[in-house]
Amino acid sequence: MPYAELKAKADKQEPLPTFVLKGVRITFNLDAEYEVVRTQYSHNVVGIVEGADPLLKNTYVAFGAHYDHVGFASGPVMDTPSGPRRQGTPGRVTDGAIDDIVWNGADDDGSGSVSVMAVAKAFAQGPRPRRSTVFVWHTGEERGLWGSRYYADYPSVPIDAVVAQLNMDMIGRNRDDKPEEANTVYLVGSDRISTELHNIGEDANAGMPKPLTLDYEMNDPADPEGIYFRSDHYSYAAKGIPVIFYTTGLHPDYHANTDEVDRINFEKMTRITQLVYETGLAVANLDHAPARDNKGPRAGKAK
Ligand SMILES: [Zn+2]
Repeated sequence: MPYAELKAKADKQEPLPTFVLKGVRITFNLDAEYEVVRTQYSHNVVGIVEGADPLLKNTYVAFGAHYDHVGFASGPVMDTPSGPRRQGTPGRVTDGAIDDIVWNGADDDGSGSVSVMAVAKAFAQGPRPRRSTVFVWHTGEERGLWGSRYYADYPSVPIDAVVAQLNMDMIGRNRDDKPEEANTVYLVGSDRISTELHNIGEDANAGMPKPLTLDYEMNDPADPEGIYFRSDHYSYAAKGIPVIFYTTGLHPDYHANTDEVDRINFEKMTRITQLVYETGLAVANLDHAPARDNKGPRAGKAK
């Protein structure tokens, strides 16, 4: 198999062929020495609602979002060739917002964080499903999925008992601020590990009073943004757990100090939260865990 072909397949995240190399010996020399330069502590926040079924309550449906964002600017405003600029900004500075030193991250991911709170409240106060539900507000997502990776490695419930993970990151806007996106939410990864989970998600949407437009464009392995790998659900998918990632996509305030709460579309966000709740509820009441058929990304409702 020529290397170029293998690499092309890997780039497209297609399954790679396996073959045996006879009489080959490989030596890895790993230098695991490092020096701690700086230590900062941060916490994931976890809540659990116990399920109603005596056996199934030992299995879990997980919901997640990230509560960190990129930070704040501590530097002074300096004159530069392109005009006054604040120094040491952690993200983009949008015109007219030079005095705003806090990157609020209202959409990224305040939207997901409060939605997980709403879903947790619904499970805590509403009808109990058979399975338990676990809610994780991840930290350090913006630094590279640190909180979710830590949680997947050191979970508060047995990771093998998590039957699905539903992640919300940026669910409060319209992609590129386009009005025609008002009914659209992007689902990523839903069919990659479990076709059954994908179908549960579609059926939950179809059963809503006003179904959303589910768009799978960003689930395409050729998606140039590589969205599947860029939020916390991936830490769970990497452990083989079926996931669905919900997002309304990028917009001009992405990682800018203008990602403000007054730009959030709460009506749309509430409907997405309802969809996540209904999908999670269906999985939490299922008598079996969603089958892991690992067929990889496909478009539309799988048969
Ligand atoms: Zn985010």
